[in-house]
Parts: sequence; structure tokens; C-alpha cells
Amino acid sequence: MNGKARTAATAGLLAAVTACALAACALVALYPPPGTFAGLYPPANDGIRPALFAQPVCNGVQCRLCPYNCFLPEGARGRCRVRANYGGKMKTLAYGRPAAVHLDPIEKKPVYHMYPGSLIYSVAAPGCNLACRGCQNWEISQIYPEQAPASTLVPQALEIKRAPDGRVYGELKQGEVTGLSPEDIVKYALATRSKSIAYTYSEPTVFYEYMYDTAVLARKAGLKNVMVSAGYINPVPLALLLPLMDVVKIDLKGYDEKFYRSYTGGSLEPVKNTLVQLKKSGALFEVVNLVAPGLNDSPRDLEALSGWVMDELGPGTPLFFSRFTPNYLVSDIPPTPTETLARARAIAMKKGLKYVYVGNLPGNEGENTYCPKCGQPLIRRYGFAILEDRLTPAGGRCPYDGTRIPGIW
Ligand code: SF4
Repeated sequence: MNGKARTAATAGLLAAVTACALAACALVALYPPPGTFAGLYPPANDGIRPALFAQPVCNGVQCRLCPYNCFLPEGARGRCRVRANYGGKMKTLAYGRPAAVHLDPIEKKPVYHMYPGSLIYSVAAPGCNLACRGCQNWEISQIYPEQAPASTLVPQALEIKRAPDGRVYGELKQGEVTGLSPEDIVKYALATRSKSIAYTYSEPTVFYEYMYDTAVLARKAGLKNVMVSAGYINPVPLALLLPLMDVVKIDLKGYDEKFYRSYTGGSLEPVKNTLVQLKKSGALFEVVNLVAPGLNDSPRDLEALSGWVMDELGPGTPLFFSRFTPNYLVSDIPPTPTETLARARAIAMKKGLKYVYVGNLPGNEGENTYCPKCGQPLIRRYGFAILEDRLTPAGGRCPYDGTRIPGIW
């Protein structure tokens, strides 16, 4: 190479390096780290705890909690935003740091086959391993833990009172907290007359350690545990958790791989595996599908989803088709029409499923539980309220023909 050519090559290389540096600056400007990043890292921060399912690999750790199996070099976080390699060890940043805590009717989860009309103490920590474009809880699921409010309003006691006119009502006492230990959750669940605790709203898989420790204490206190999840979890962590869970609610987002990838960022197969594992384990579980117009509501998709649930999970699997309302990054489609949900329910029932529900549509006949043998309504609902429960008090049977309805009653 002569002198002229060498100069030209050097200039070209410099231009390329400069372009790369400018591109990197632009990326940093576009995706800056959260402003309060440093706030999480004082070693005394109680929210940072050792994380389970970490595998040391060269120059980092691999998280084996969910199907992403993120490789985390020093200082990096997983896709869920709440698990990090900190000092060469994997940590969870979500322990004892709730993003939302509420006292809900169990129908709101929705869980229909356990203690109808009961209260469920519902807890979420920040973060999620999926990134659904229409997420209904994106304010807490799609954030870093340090972006969560410094304190959370927490239900602490529920007193039953009687008004002068004889009317009975509940008075809820709430307080702001900066942290909430598993012991606190159980204490407040009991004081608010909850029968169970739900790990819900965001994705409990990614706050696994917090959920697990709470579930152990809840069991000892006589409370039931409910995991409300998208099912994006690896088989080993799920197997270890299942003995503690009384009901698992799985959000099966659709039945098309392309849709799953573009809408959630994840994929369908691991969720199907989770559901099959639940079935094989004998756990009580329910499935919900949020039906969004134009995204996952084609008759072909609904047929395929219902057929798979029927064939692989069995006719007694409670399956919900819930109404979608525009949220987060999906604002350009209308709420799901009533007819679409009715059609979905009819398709699933035709496949042979016995307990098919319509969700987020108060007053619809699909909210009720019917006896699969005689067709009588056994539990009549309106929204989150129970209008009538005719199941036999012991055993959860149809009072007309004795058919046993699967559930915890
Ligand atoms: S839980 Fe989080 S860090 Fe672990 S594999 Fe899944 S996304 Fe990655």
C-alpha cells in the first residue's frame, strides 16, 4: 500500500469509528439508564437479595428462571429488569419492594373455582419477563424497580361495622409503607379477612423468591396461595413452587407463534409446556385468554386454542375469554365486542370444555358456573359480585344431580 492509499484507509477507518461513536451516543440518549439507578445499590438495601436459579458461566451468570435464560455479565440486568449480576452474583431487586397491594374479590383475578365471593390479598412487585403491547398493568410491569414509587399504600385491616340503619359494611384501614416483608403480607392478609394471597398484576415469576417465602408463611397461617402468571417460567422453578400453590391462573395470550412473538416478545411453546406441566402435576389451574380485536380473535385462532386446551388439558379446565380494552402501546383498536366473546365461548363449549367463562363483561351469562350435566346455573355472578351460590356446602356438588365441580369450595 503506498502512502496515499494508507492515508485514505486511515481516514476511512477514523470516519467509521466516529460514526460508530455517534451512533452509540444516540443510543445512550435514546435509552438512558434509569435516573435513580445508583439508589438500588447500597449494600444495605434490603430489596437486594440473592437470587435462585443462577448458573455461573465464564465472565458472568446465567439466570435459569425463565425461558429467556439471560446471560448476565457483571452489572447487567435481565429482560425482566429485576434480576442482575451484582458483584459476580445474581441478585433479585424485587424482594420486599411491592409496586401494588390491594384487597380484591377473588373474581377479579379472575379465579372462579376457589372460594367464590372471598377476599384475596393481592401483591405485585415491579417487572415482567414479557412486554405485551397491550399490557393492562404496564405502569408496574414495564418499569425498573427504582422507578416504582418510594412508598405503597397497603391494606392493613378490615373492620366489619354496622350502620345505625342496620346495614353492615367493611371499613378498610390502609397505610403507606416503603417495604413489605413476607411476614407483613401474611399479617395484613389475615387482618383484612382474606382467605388467600395472590401474586399478581405484574409477573410473579420474576419476583420468585419474594413470592416463595410469602407462600411458605401463608400456608403455615392457613391461607391459600394463588399465582396469576403468563406462564413464562422454566420447568424446575415451577416444579419447586407448585407444592405451595393452591390455584395457578395462566394467561394464554393466543395460539399463534407469530402473534406471541410480536405481541409479547416471548414465544408460545414454553407457555404450553407450563400448562401441560400443571396438568400432569395435578395442580388446580385456570386459563384466561384476553381476546383483542384484529390481534388474536380470528375463528381459526379461537378454534385452535380451545381445541388444544380440550385435548391437552382436559374438559374440566376452566377457560376464560376476557374483554380487551385498549392500553399501553395498543390504542388503535376498540374494546372487544360482546359477540366476539360469545362466539369464542360457543367455540370452546362445542369442543367439549365444561367451564367456559366470559370476563370483563358484567351481566353476561358467561360469568356463571353451570352444572355440566344438568345445565343448571350453580354460581351466578355479576361482575365481581356473587348473586347466588347453590353448590352444596361440603364437597362443591350440584344440588340437583350431585355432579362434583372441580375446585376448592
Ligand atoms: S427471569 Fe429475568 S433475568 Fe431471569 S431469564 Fe427471565 S428475563 Fe432473564
